[in-house]
Amino acid sequence: MTYVVTENCIQCKYTDCVEVCPVDCFHEGPNFLVIDPDACIDCSLCVPACPAEAIYPDDELPEGQAHFTALNAELSKLWPVLDEPKAPLPDADDWDGEPDKLSHLKR
Ligand code: SF4
Ligand code: SF4
Repeated sequence: MTYVVTENCIQCKYTDCVEVCPVDCFHEGPNFLVIDPDACIDCSLCVPACPAEAIYPDDELPEGQAHFTALNAELSKLWPVLDEPKAPLPDADDWDGEPDKLSHLKR
């Protein structure tokens, strides 16, 4: 099993998740973070830490978010590890909860 970052992280990047992950499995893209499924130890610490409620176990993904499992696996191979928190994107609060953010994903 792994944990998966889903759509509501796009355009937010609060990075509170990075602070609590004991094994540095978050990878950073321009406006989204993903979890490396091969590094995640299923500890669940990142779930309550995420202000955007964007992280779920892969067997409990909300409706319409199933494709984020493959997206996390794919992008974690391409993006660098982020091992310390940083400031969120400037308009993160405006984007939090907005629907259909996948079209805004930057690779
Ligand atoms: S805390 Fe949540 S919204 Fe912020 S980067 Fe991590 S997964 Fe994305
Ligand atoms: S479940 Fe644990 S190991 Fe996996 S990404 Fe979250 S904090 Fe890191």
